[in-house]
Amino acid sequence: MLLRSLTAPLLSIRGIGPALLPKFARLEMRDIAGLLCHYPRDWEDRSVKVPLKDFHRARVCAEVTVVAHNWTGFGRMRTLKIYVKDDTASAALLCFNRPWLEKQLVTGGRYWLTGRFSYSKKYGEIQCGSFDFEPADGDDVSGAGGFGGFQPVYSLSAGLTQAALRRFVERALDQYAAEIEDELPQEIIQREKLLPKSRALRAIHFPASAAELKEARRSIIYEELFYLEIMVGRRALERRRTAGGAVAARETAELRSPLQRRLLERLPFSLTAGQEEAADEINRDMSGSYPMARLLQGDVGSGKTLVSFLAALRAVEDGGQAAIMAPTELLARQHAENAARLLEPLGLRIAFLTGNIKAAGRKELLRNLAAGDVDIVVGTHALFSRDVTYKNLRLVVVDEQHRFGVTQRALIMAKGGSRVPHLLMMSATPIPRTLALTVFGDMDVSIIRDMPPGRKPVRTHLARESNEAKVYDFVRGQLAAGHQAYFVYPLIENDGELDLKDAVSMAERLSREVFPDFPAALIHSKLDEEEKRRTMEKFRKGEIKILAATSVVEVGVDVPNATCMVIEHAERFGLSALHQLRGRVGRGADQSYCFLVYSDEPETGEKMPGGGGSAAARRNDGLARLNVMFKNSDGFIIAEEDLKLRGPGQIAGIEQSGYLSLGLANPVRDAKELVRCRDDAFGILESDPDLLLEDHRIIARVLEESGGCLYGQPGEVAL
Ligand code: ADP
Ligand code: MG
Repeated sequence: MLLRSLTAPLLSIRGIGPALLPKFARLEMRDIAGLLCHYPRDWEDRSVKVPLKDFHRARVCAEVTVVAHNWTGFGRMRTLKIYVKDDTASAALLCFNRPWLEKQLVTGGRYWLTGRFSYSKKYGEIQCGSFDFEPADGDDVSGAGGFGGFQPVYSLSAGLTQAALRRFVERALDQYAAEIEDELPQEIIQREKLLPKSRALRAIHFPASAAELKEARRSIIYEELFYLEIMVGRRALERRRTAGGAVAARETAELRSPLQRRLLERLPFSLTAGQEEAADEINRDMSGSYPMARLLQGDVGSGKTLVSFLAALRAVEDGGQAAIMAPTELLARQHAENAARLLEPLGLRIAFLTGNIKAAGRKELLRNLAAGDVDIVVGTHALFSRDVTYKNLRLVVVDEQHRFGVTQRALIMAKGGSRVPHLLMMSATPIPRTLALTVFGDMDVSIIRDMPPGRKPVRTHLARESNEAKVYDFVRGQLAAGHQAYFVYPLIENDGELDLKDAVSMAERLSREVFPDFPAALIHSKLDEEEKRRTMEKFRKGEIKILAATSVVEVGVDVPNATCMVIEHAERFGLSALHQLRGRVGRGADQSYCFLVYSDEPETGEKMPGGGGSAAARRNDGLARLNVMFKNSDGFIIAEEDLKLRGPGQIAGIEQSGYLSLGLANPVRDAKELVRCRDDAFGILESDPDLLLEDHRIIARVLEESGGCLYGQPGEVAL
């Protein structure tokens, strides 16, 4: 039996009754397979004994005697306190809402106890409100599964306790684990020295030792990555097989749908060649036989948003809905406003959904989404909150994809119901090679290499802080000519410890002292959404000329009349942030400027508090980044330089790249195994694409029995 085929109902486990089922369902556990694949999020090591007196050092795990019971408080506040002691100290157990413990922990009895204790000043005693225990007379104290071994710690939902879940998993393992078959070819299991599946599964829940836990993890991770790569490989091969046909299809396919043509006619410009090509590729994908999975890369300002709108129109014409997801509320709102401006006149119904939309409005919006009365919804990750349902979600656009996590993407893909929606991910940040090969290895890629015409490259200047007056003078000239400017700072507010300019005080200074004749405003992440919205709107309309900001304006913000970007303490920003920030200007026809202002600090070898290298070394790194910015404007080159300067593994956001939900594996952390899995999987598929050979039967069966969905919920991964 394959693990995933253990579809026996949870009710077949002793102790699980119908009332518990919804609680399991909330954790995506719907059958035995679901229960067994609910891997622990952590393990408690109870093999090491920690006496009560050492409570401040670690989680207590000790044999204790119950000394006394005591009820405190009145009415609903009435709480049972149980006093216990071991050889080293005594302590109180607070039994909130667990009155029955009075009968289970009897005075004079001896118990194994574990829990995190803390000292209560008020009561002058050490206390614990959440603990586990077991009578100490039993003899399974040191065995796996008993009190003394490693205990799994699961994520829980209301109404399910840790102890109950452990019991149920243990029973399920006893009843079913023995029949579970290996899903990897034996050859790989032997070569990699992996545990057999049934043993790995038992050990992942109840390992006998730290070493066994490690083996179990390694085995399960390898299997997950292997099937990930089998899926990637199949899509890749499929694409290779159909690539020849695609050229012919290109000639015959009608290139623009009616709504797309109407949108393009209304625009004051025409698409760039890069946009045209990307839109063609998307149209072809969306009329293909399997769901689109496409990554659209293009430097900041290359016009990706418009391409995603064209895709959305196509989804709507096909009778579906489109969801466009952005990483910040600011950016989501900007997209929503653009969508309303461009698409509503075509008769489309646009909605905006974020976490800040309050009860009544939200309820109605959700009703409209579920009823299909909204065609395109734009928002933040709130788009895939639990209570959001779609009538017929056909396209998911993920803007600035590198900002999103694995699970978020998986969740929104699951909203398509039984039909996997088309996926369009957009990014200005190139994806590192390992991931491009593996996690994204089954995605098609479109690259927009050109910029809308008439754009002049942004002129970048490096300036010392002592020369900032010159920078201000220059900006004043631009403001006088009717343009606008951003001033970006590394901090919202300076608590005085560092000698740094911050957004709050500089907003004040810019408007009072430096540019008294021009209206200025402040924007940063701590302001409330309504205030941010109003400020951005005024800036967009030109009522505000100067925006003092933090890196909140980093992604996506689009105000073509802004021609100056002044980044102060620029040596403190990372390369990708600098590149994104510079991309906020140069979006119109006028010449734009970026000033990277860096501090004058003398280059001494003095150490900074809490820092790794010397201040001078850090400053030199910072200046090296500014130099890269000065010399390059191409985002792809800047990303490569970034990799060189920082070394792989340190690039922010990579851990999160990917769109699969895996149980234990993490493609970035487990990159070495991933590469081996890729070789295994591609090797097998290339020699036997239809998996007909005896050796590959098991793989074919896994694919078949998983019904095209290997991990998590249906719809997360398209084969
Ligand atoms: P990004 O790729 O960084 O997301 P945007 O989609 O924000 O870029 O586009 C940047 C700006 O370019 C927007 O103001 C947009 O209206 C404009 N734009 C997009 N396509 C074109 C085009 N073909 N010609 C002229 N301007 C365009
Ligand atoms: Mg964008």
